[in-house]
Amino acid sequence: MRHFDLVIIGTGSGNSILDPRFDDWNVAIVEKGVFGGTCLNVGCIPTKMFVHTADLANAPAAGARLGVDARLTGVRWPEVRDRIFGRIDPIAEGGRRYRAEECANVTVYAGEGRFVGSKRLAVSTGSGEDEVITADRFVLAAGSRPIVPDVVGIEQVGFHTNEDVMRLAELPRRMVILGSGFVATEFAHVFGSFGVDVTLVARSDLLLRGQDLDVATRFTELAERRWDVRRNRKAVRAERDGDVTRLHLEGPDGAEVVEGEALLVAVGRRPNSDLLNLGATGVTTHPDGRVVVDCHQRTEVDGIYALGDLSSPYQLKHVANHEARVVQHNLLHPDAPVSTDHRFVPHAVFSSPQVASVGLTEQQARARGVRYVTATQQYAGIAYGWAMEDTTGFCKLLADPADGRLLGAHIIGPQAPTLIQPLVQAMHFGLDARSMARGQYWIHPSMPELVENALLNLPLDD
Ligand SMILES: Cc1cc2nc3c(=O)[nH]c(=O)nc-3n(C[C@H](O)[C@H](O)[C@H](O)COP(=O)(O)OP(=O)(O)OC[C@H]3O[C@@H](n4cnc5c(N)ncnc54)[C@H](O)[C@@H]3O)c2cc1C
Repeated sequence: MRHFDLVIIGTGSGNSILDPRFDDWNVAIVEKGVFGGTCLNVGCIPTKMFVHTADLANAPAAGARLGVDARLTGVRWPEVRDRIFGRIDPIAEGGRRYRAEECANVTVYAGEGRFVGSKRLAVSTGSGEDEVITADRFVLAAGSRPIVPDVVGIEQVGFHTNEDVMRLAELPRRMVILGSGFVATEFAHVFGSFGVDVTLVARSDLLLRGQDLDVATRFTELAERRWDVRRNRKAVRAERDGDVTRLHLEGPDGAEVVEGEALLVAVGRRPNSDLLNLGATGVTTHPDGRVVVDCHQRTEVDGIYALGDLSSPYQLKHVANHEARVVQHNLLHPDAPVSTDHRFVPHAVFSSPQVASVGLTEQQARARGVRYVTATQQYAGIAYGWAMEDTTGFCKLLADPADGRLLGAHIIGPQAPTLIQPLVQAMHFGLDARSMARGQYWIHPSMPELVENALLNLPLDD
């Protein structure tokens, strides 16, 4: 039985832990799927490469309002798809080859890991024989996977998830998307922009319902202009008729049916903790399946750490990467561990319009009894917004009226994920709204003037 100094399960953010400081450690990396994990292969990166292409496909429609008559004459799906995966697949394979062939101290196991005892992991390699390995330390970085909703017949009709929908052989004429969060709305934007008729089925009253209510409401209004959005609907049964998948829904007005040539399921993700048989090694989980860790990313078992979607309250790549850096430090310096900083975690939705957010929503501030003031600045009120003829986007801020500290920032509109970054910075470094607004130049006439004006609009105490 081989024994290692360290075993890492999962090659998403887990793979980023190893740097030259680990060169004299004997390390194993276990990966059951494609090397590089969700973000690189089936998540953030390919989706955003498709989103950028979708934005271009949308540009002619936006031009008409500005007096530019362009026409989209077609989207060459196979070329779009192959350009994107033509870049990504070699990166994933290069990462695997580097670890397997160029890192003398690292053994790569291609197979699924499952604990069979205290710090004992069986790796199934597909050959029928499991190999059991042991280690002094483990890093659990096994991520999450799509939730399949409890809909009668859904397994039989065949459905897509983020794992395969970006590699479709051809674009379907119609696509039904089950879900209303960021994955569902990003894919709705992508496929809708490429000419697919999209029907979005949401259980909730609003799309992106975790956002500030003003943002979720505006996003939902705009989405209803682009896609066939069915809100407050429960999918109860799926059936296949030839090339068509039918989804039977229950809603406020009774039963109804939606159909398409493709069905995409994007209702959320669950941690992969159930695949690891963690009980065998004493690691515990929350009721939602997340591995229990302390602020140093340590599980309840000495020497076993967890990170990313497997344990984090945030299913975001930048959080997984941050937690991986914390684990990296704590592996090297167990007697001087650092803590994870989850205070100001931003996120973005790369749909259309784009959305970005950090900190408290107004509803959370109210529920927590926090004293706050709020201000909103429309894109339509800044010069660059006039240039774009934007009439729907805005930046909404929440701040402590006493000291001007920002409590939350929410942007819906063009370049929201870029515009939010200075606000994230201000929150991290304790910059108050007045100093931020007036203590620096803001390039005129640029989009960040949206943020400058939102800051100036805050009715702070004198
Ligand atoms: C469609 C989509 C779009 C996204 N877009 C964004 C975005 O724009 N921005 C953002 O911040 N986040 C985004 N995310 C979320 C982001 O991808 C994840 O938060 C991040 O990749 C999690 O990293 P991780 O290292 O925890 O897990 P992963 O990257 O999922 O890595 C886990 C690895 O462990 C392997 N594994 C699992 N179980 C086992 C086992 N038992 N044995 C061996 N190997 C195992 C898996 O095969 C996988 O390769 C997106 C996610 C999706 C699905």
